[in-house]
Formats: sequence, C-alpha cells, structure tokens
Amino acid sequence: MTAPTAVEARNVVKAFGQGEVAVRALDDVSVGIRRGEFFTLLGPSGCGKTTLLRLIAGFEAPTSGTILLDGRDITADPPNRRPINTVFQSYALFPHLTVAENVGFGLRMQGKPRAEIGNVTARMLALVRLEALAGRRVAQLSGGQQQRVALARALAPQPRVLLLDEPLSALDLKLRKEMQIELKRLQHETGITFVFVTHDQEEALTMSDRIGVMSAGRILQIGPPREIYTRPANRFVASFIGETNFLPARHAGGRVTLEAGGELAVEGGPEGQVTVAVRPEQVRLVPPDEPGALRATIRNLVYFGTDTHCHLALADGTEVVARLQSSASDDPGLEPGQPAGLRFAPGAVQLLGD
Ligand code: ATP
Repeated sequence: MTAPTAVEARNVVKAFGQGEVAVRALDDVSVGIRRGEFFTLLGPSGCGKTTLLRLIAGFEAPTSGTILLDGRDITADPPNRRPINTVFQSYALFPHLTVAENVGFGLRMQGKPRAEIGNVTARMLALVRLEALAGRRVAQLSGGQQQRVALARALAPQPRVLLLDEPLSALDLKLRKEMQIELKRLQHETGITFVFVTHDQEEALTMSDRIGVMSAGRILQIGPPREIYTRPANRFVASFIGETNFLPARHAGGRVTLEAGGELAVEGGPEGQVTVAVRPEQVRLVPPDEPGALRATIRNLVYFGTDTHCHLALADGTEVVARLQSSASDDPGLEPGQPAGLRFAPGAVQLLGD
C-alpha cells in the first residue's frame, strides 16, 4: 500500500522580480512526497530545487499555488509553526557553542525542560555517533563531524519532515560516500520524511526511494531510481541521468527505421519522427556480418578497469558508445578501424517523441 502524502506542492508558481527581469523559478510545480520516504529533487544548477525547499520550509511564499502538510494547507504558516526542519549546505552551526549545545538549541528555543533537552541531545548524539565529542566546540570539528552535528540538531525537535539542501556537497568524495550511507541509515531509523536536494545524479540514484527530476522550474518526471534510469520520460531526463545514445529515427507500426540506416523492432512508443534512446551498457558488439545487426566501425576504445567504453560510428557517421564489461580472462582484441555489428539488448530501447 502506498504511504499517505506528507508534503504536497500543488500548482506552485514562484516568480522573482518583475517585468523584463522576472524569473519564474518554479513554473506550476505539483508533487506529493509520501510519509517516511527519502525523496530527492534532482536537477542542474538554477532549476528551482532550493526555491521549492524554501517554500516547503516557509522561508518564501509562493506567487500562487498551495503547500500542504498531511493534507492541511500551510501556505500561510510561518516557518516556526511548521513541523519541518532544514539542514543547509553551510551547516549554519554556532561555532562558539559545544556540540551538545548546538544539538539542544532548537529544544531550548521551544522552552523544553532541561532534563528533556539533556535526554534528547544524548539520544541524537548517539544516533549520529558523536557521543564522545559532546563537550567539544564545533569550530574544533572536521567537516564530516560538523555535518553530523547539523543533522542531529535538525532531528532533535523530531520534525515530521527534514529538508536537506545539498548537505554533502562540502565534503570530499570518500566522506561524502560514507555520509550517504549514514543519511540513509538515519532516515530509516527515524522514519522521518526526507526531502533531499542534489545536482549529483549518482547520489540521487543510490539514496532515494523516489526522485523528482527538475529542469527550468518544472518537474519533468517523478519515480523510483530504476524507473527514472530505465524509462526516462524525455531527452532531458535521459541525458541528465547517466549516459545515453540518441539516434534519430522514424517509427511506424512497431518498426523503427534509423536515419543512420538499419531497422529495430520495438513495442509501443510514439509514432512518426522519434529519437531512439539506448544506454551504452545495453549496446552489444556482434560480428559485423551477423544478420539484422547494425553496421558500425570502431573509432576509439577507452579502458576504465571495470569496463571499456567503445566509441563506434554508424554508416552516416552517427556516434554510438558501447560499454563493454571487462572480464578478467580475456582481452576482446578490439582495435580502432575494425568493423563491428551492433545489437541493442531486448527491451532496452526507449522511443522518445520529439
Ligand atoms: P543551485 O543548485 O545552483 O542551488 P537551484 O536549482 O537550487 O540551483 P534556485 O536557487 O531555486 O535553483 O534558483 C532558481 C532560479 O531562481 C534561478 O534562476 C535563480 O537565479 C532564481 N532565484 C532564486 N532566488 C532568487 C531571489 N531571491 N531573487 C531573484 N532570483 C532568484
């Protein structure tokens, strides 16, 4: 059964400025984020991710549209009346306070009794595994430790929803990978709804229950990572998440004729002028004379250890990349200039309308 909706944006528009300098940061955005899910807003810089988070938090008001929490309209509620907390990229900690004082800060603001603040702070520090550093000043901590303090502080008042705006972007790659696992664990253990913002597609794919892909103030597709990757709704989603080969073609009655020559059999999809989208790992190399295979010439080979990227050209020069898994026992013996046949894995071809 699908969990009920925790946060919902309904037909939200946010415009900044007026007249010629007006920016439509959000252009009729509607999305429902389910209770207890790890939801990621993914998109390039400037697409409106932060603006949507700020509207959910209440730091900005929408130009039009509604924000709901558990089905209730909260559009007019100030941030401190919303059971929602935010972790910022900059952490926004108080450097002169200790770790424990930072974590207990929100609870003190709410006027909670001392004993309760002490208990919750201890629980939160255990949750992020920082018990040993409770008395340290924040300025004496590493970036990863500061990030954990920021998380513990945001979780302490037990918000119903936690908003995370690129919280890992200041960390180096190794720490970032560790914190990705840590964040997933925290979300699982607390059961709190997480709305996570990133422009990093790998981070979105590995961490999320569902992803909303944004571009230019709109949400283009919402779905679980596997669906977004294997069934991108359009060319932007296909190219922003992972690598994709795009081949212009015509589709009529289940037969697709590539402009570069050759035919493919497909099921469903738009008819007429289309773009064939196929991931490099779904392209197979076969002998050049195999019946039904597309004819190509190997241009270039790039060895990556786990796999080799083989760049090929079709008859009209269109480039196709095939990602070939390395096997320890054999060198495929491919060379630039060699002819090759191409096949696409069954079911891996996606037709995008233009
Ligand atoms: P990034 O990943 O770079 O943070 P983003 O996807 O979070 O980008 P937003 O910060 O939401 O994007 O910005 C969306 C658009 O709205 C951008 O064109 C931005 O310049 C504009 N914008 C955001 N805040 C304001 C503001 N206060 N005044 C004017 N324009 C703004």
